[in-house]
Amino acid sequence: MVFKALSLRDQAHEQVVFCSNSETGLKGVIAIHSTALGPALGGCRMRPYQTEEQALEDVLRLSEAMSYKAALAGLQLGGGKSVIIADPEKDKKPELLWSFGLHIESLKGRYIVAKDMGINTEDLQYIGDQTSYVVGRPVKRGGVGDPSRSTAKGVYYGIKTAVQWKLKRDSLKGLRVILQGLGAVGSNLLELLNQEEMEIFVHDIKSSVLEKAKTQFPKIKIISKEEVFTTECDVFSPCSVGAVINEESVKTLKCSIVAGGANNQLSHPSIGKKLLDKRILYIPDFIINSGGLIYVSSYLSPKKSNEWIENKLKGISQTIRKLCDLSQAENVDTAEMALMLAKDKIKRSYIS
Ligand code: NAD
Repeated sequence: MVFKALSLRDQAHEQVVFCSNSETGLKGVIAIHSTALGPALGGCRMRPYQTEEQALEDVLRLSEAMSYKAALAGLQLGGGKSVIIADPEKDKKPELLWSFGLHIESLKGRYIVAKDMGINTEDLQYIGDQTSYVVGRPVKRGGVGDPSRSTAKGVYYGIKTAVQWKLKRDSLKGLRVILQGLGAVGSNLLELLNQEEMEIFVHDIKSSVLEKAKTQFPKIKIISKEEVFTTECDVFSPCSVGAVINEESVKTLKCSIVAGGANNQLSHPSIGKKLLDKRILYIPDFIINSGGLIYVSSYLSPKKSNEWIENKLKGISQTIRKLCDLSQAENVDTAEMALMLAKDKIKRSYIS
């Protein structure tokens, strides 16, 4: 596969592998950002990217964030991610996933694949037919299953902590939340926030998903794509694609807190300063959405207990509190402060 020359984000990545197979139609990229703390673990995303450059940019950003996620969650793991350029609704077939699995196997454990958007646990089973460096196979086949519930739980703890810190409230009851994206993470989060009796506004690009949610939770209010960024609320929770908070949307956002499960929510780290200037508390994605990584990592040898998982998920709240206190004390936005903390942790691992 030929990619146009594209700078590798400050040459920061250890290894970038382009995968292709003309027989199966595979076109993908595996990016290993860092193995300083351990093997690079991260999901595979299948998306019909419009250009190869978009796929490359996505995988580079996502894999970098995985290094920071693992570091701040206190895991002995590095950061990696992979993307397959294909439409999950139309192009997915076993042969394509098998050929992708062979590429992962060739890295001999430097990269361990898990699930991300467009890839489910059954797909991981196919990938796993060709490589043992997989976490997240279906439970019925002895795998760890879908980590999304743990991701959502971590986001839920994160929202509670952000509300306590910013709004000085212990309860979420009656607060307004906008949930963007009701997929694996968003639907689990919806269930948790509904139990808190929040006023919930939702948007998803799929009307079938919205209809299902409305049947299950009749009190939720469905809003349009535009209203996501203009409706006044306490918490905006992005749980779909990345870069939803950008130069345009930051101008219209009317919330006190941004805290959601999506990866790479900011189109650029500098948007963090713009959120701070608007007095919006941003909880960095790679801290608040680390629950899934915590969950899948618990199945790596030596296997950890449920108690270990729960303690780690609760640790997300402690990290958020520390981050908010530090950024307030230093007058640095939370996105930049989180990056500094994570990079420092990785750097120190080289020294120790
Ligand atoms: P998913 O594919 O199950 O769900 C994504 C949902 O977002 C779908 O319902 C889709 O229709 C909707 N969507 C897509 N574009 C949209 C848009 N522009 N506006 C509104 N809705 C849109 O994916 P997921 O597993 O729920 O992951 C969601 C986000 O969370 C992704 O950014 C993913 O990288 C991140 N994440 C997921 C996990 C996990 O455990 N699944 C862990 C960490 C981070």
